Amino acid sequence: MYNITNQYINCFINRFPRRTYFIILIGFQIYGDSMTTSDHDRIKALSLEISRLKKERNAVLLVHNYQLPEVQDVADFLGDSLDLCMKAKSVEEEIIIFCGVDFMAESAKILNPSKRVFMPDPSAGCPMAHMVTADGLKKLKARHSDAAVVSYVNTTAETKALSDVCCTSANAPLICRAIPEKKIIFTPDRNLGRWTAEQVPEKEFILWEGYCPTHQLRVKLEDLLELKRRHPDALVMAHPECLMEILGHADAVLSTGGMLRYAKESNAGRFIVATEIGMVYRLQKENPKKEFIAMEGAVCPNMKKTTLEKVARCLRKMPEENEIALGEELMDAARKPLERMLEISRFAKK
Ligand code: SF4
Repeated sequence: MYNITNQYINCFINRFPRRTYFIILIGFQIYGDSMTTSDHDRIKALSLEISRLKKERNAVLLVHNYQLPEVQDVADFLGDSLDLCMKAKSVEEEIIIFCGVDFMAESAKILNPSKRVFMPDPSAGCPMAHMVTADGLKKLKARHSDAAVVSYVNTTAETKALSDVCCTSANAPLICRAIPEKKIIFTPDRNLGRWTAEQVPEKEFILWEGYCPTHQLRVKLEDLLELKRRHPDALVMAHPECLMEILGHADAVLSTGGMLRYAKESNAGRFIVATEIGMVYRLQKENPKKEFIAMEGAVCPNMKKTTLEKVARCLRKMPEENEIALGEELMDAARKPLERMLEISRFAKK
């Protein structure tokens, strides 16, 4: 933990101007904190307590790739949205502690309703998921009754319940090709939708005008061009939630799970990572001989709300307000598009 964290700090300090790593240090309390022995002791003590409590509670920790490094390090399972959906479905422990944002924890509950699902910080929401309104989507469906609604998993349970099938950034083109409808209403991310429409030109797309504030506003073209100028040998991996002007400069457009595979399999030694900054920690940890360069300021504040203290507190007290509670009817309706996505993905793998 110590070595990796310091390697990560040094990687930023060597690479960015002082202003940049100051921003990163604010976004990632861990990096600043990790520099003192007492903070190492704190992390170690909390990690041990979490490990003990997990056994006592029969709980499992599912963690998204964008979480803080110290939270990633205590994960039982770490992954992107698709990996986490698949894992949530097969969890055998009685309790799922979901370290991510609200729609992910909701999906876990929907896919495995007999389990109790808790979020260490229930205020960690995804602004993009809340850009779709049920009323607006109903109206759009009425105007295009021949279209299928394909919703990114980054949606509320209410939006999923109005959708025909879900998708993630790892499988959006696959899902859109697999369904029979020629016309698709794609919610909520217009950037992922636009990129998917390019991959599936045989279909007509109607895009919901949502976007991820982190990928659209904080992954900036001028920063990417500057990094490319300073590291001309680096390959650029970009997430499809970024603007097209970013994707146009990418060597590969990938989900976070896809980035892990690409980085491992590539012969290149250096990569610019155009996605939320938490991803760089996992890439660096799993590929210690390669270099990963983060995009300035690409921090999702909601993904950084979950801390080890909150995970430990959640396991200790299991507060009612941290537990995901959804009505049976809503869960049944939202499960269908999620299950359909998993079925199409499973079939494609065979
Ligand atoms: S990175 Fe974007 S899409 Fe992901 S949780 Fe944050 S706001 Fe939502």
